[in-house]
Amino acid sequence: MSRRIVIVGGGFAGVSAAVQLMRRSPAPLAITLIEERERVGPGLAYATHDPDHRLNGPTWVHSVDPLDGEHFTRWCVARGVFESDPKALQPSGSAFVRRAVLGAYLEDQVRAHAHWAPTGSTLHTVQARVVGAVQRGGELVALTDHGQQIAGDLLLLATGNAVPRLQAPLSAALAAHPGVIENPLDTARLLNIPRAARVLIIGSGLTALDVICTLQRQGHTGGAVVVSRRGLRPRPQPPLPPGASLPLPTPGGRDNLDRVLGPAPDFLLQAEPTLRAWVKALRAQARHAQGNWYPGFDALRDTVWQLWPRLPQAQQRRFLKRLRTWYDVHRFRSPPQTEAIVNRAIANGRVQHRAARLRGVRADGQALVAQLQSPRDAAAREERFDVLVNCTGLDVAARTANNPLLQSLRVQGWLQSDALGVGYAVDAQCRLLGSDGQARARVRLVGPPTLGTFGDPGGAMYIAAQIHRIVPDVLATLGIAGGNAPQADDAVLSAA
Ligand SMILES: Cc1cc2nc3c(=O)[nH]c(=O)nc-3n(C[C@H](O)[C@H](O)[C@H](O)COP(=O)(O)OP(=O)(O)OC[C@H]3O[C@@H](n4cnc5c(N)ncnc54)[C@H](O)[C@@H]3O)c2cc1C
Repeated sequence: MSRRIVIVGGGFAGVSAAVQLMRRSPAPLAITLIEERERVGPGLAYATHDPDHRLNGPTWVHSVDPLDGEHFTRWCVARGVFESDPKALQPSGSAFVRRAVLGAYLEDQVRAHAHWAPTGSTLHTVQARVVGAVQRGGELVALTDHGQQIAGDLLLLATGNAVPRLQAPLSAALAAHPGVIENPLDTARLLNIPRAARVLIIGSGLTALDVICTLQRQGHTGGAVVVSRRGLRPRPQPPLPPGASLPLPTPGGRDNLDRVLGPAPDFLLQAEPTLRAWVKALRAQARHAQGNWYPGFDALRDTVWQLWPRLPQAQQRRFLKRLRTWYDVHRFRSPPQTEAIVNRAIANGRVQHRAARLRGVRADGQALVAQLQSPRDAAAREERFDVLVNCTGLDVAARTANNPLLQSLRVQGWLQSDALGVGYAVDAQCRLLGSDGQARARVRLVGPPTLGTFGDPGGAMYIAAQIHRIVPDVLATLGIAGGNAPQADDAVLSAA
């Protein structure tokens, strides 16, 4: 009989988990993928339909199956993506396609894996919101808002990021103001910003750049001010090596996976596990490379899931407080097309980046009055805007608050925040660590909510690698491939 796996969340992580499990299990699996959105695949990240919202990495880091790094690129070729969007292809040979294309690819993978002939595994989707999960006898049952009870032998949570919300010092009530766009991923709202509106963009990461691209394509003339504490912008993609013959070779097969799973670089392994020592080691690497910081930083980024747990907790906290913004601007790089649009808008004076603290925003009729304090000013100054777009990042607290499944798991003691409060506690195999500290082998959590444990599981390539890594243990838990389910964990689960 097929082992049953219930996956909650049909974004990149949920789809990649389903595909990898089906392709690697020697025994048949019956997978049910539950997603509350109408489409299964795009999730939160790839649901945008704006043509200027692009992937922040090349096609070869977005394969659903990390054993086949060219899978997504081949899919793009087969679907004529590069003919319909020639701007996607860069001189380096890499392609930065629209985010919506990845959404369509993921949706297509769900269809293509409905039945996996080599083993007879099946993938079935259900459109519903999971509001809770219970243990009943030997099975785990997902409860949906439609009253369905979907039973499995293992529950895999791929609930992803939470929809962005206004954060302090902005009050939640401000979200009701017609000029406030609380969720910048709501493409329809962005497209409706009047051309002459004076726009305040709070936060200066990749989402802010997406907003700028939308405004510029719409012929926006009102001007936009991008405000962040340090006034930093995401770095561009690495420059072409001087004199290199083009196109550059791109990683294929399992190259990316091997890089992520391979050993962390010696220059970091040999440094003391402190932020100071790592930053020093990174700087030294950049100096050796004539100022080129990309190779050293990429070596850190790719193996950070191995390095992060080596840092003492006090250092991890310090990183979140002091270094995260710096890390993020180097880590999340703007696609070349986005970079060009934003640079043009800045050069034309239509967009201004400013380092300032937002002290508050109040409504004055239709207008929004922001209190902004630049580092040079002793006090905040007021400035009027017509539209405010919230690009402050993904609100971690909202994950539980707005997700009844996570809330219910927390109440049952199956789920608890990680020690840093940026995600949920899991062990090395992504087993949930409940409030009793015990690992639940038959409840797994993958993707961005495991940030606190692994440091950086946010990008598609890292999520796919994370799932690849835990597949043998997941199958063993189901008694497949000779793997024995750890009895102690099952006992804990039964007690939950
Ligand atoms: C705007 C944005 C752009 C990004 N761009 C890139 C990029 O270009 N490249 C890259 O590598 N990474 C990018 N990322 C990082 C991104 O986090 C990952 O690539 C990946 O998409 C995360 O996938 P996920 O499935 O974990 O999360 P999500 O995309 O958030 O999907 C989770 C899904 O779970 C569903 N869900 C949650 N709870 C329930 C429930 N209770 N019941 C039913 N369904 C539920 C949600 O509806 C959602 O569809 C981006 C992230 C964002 C937010």
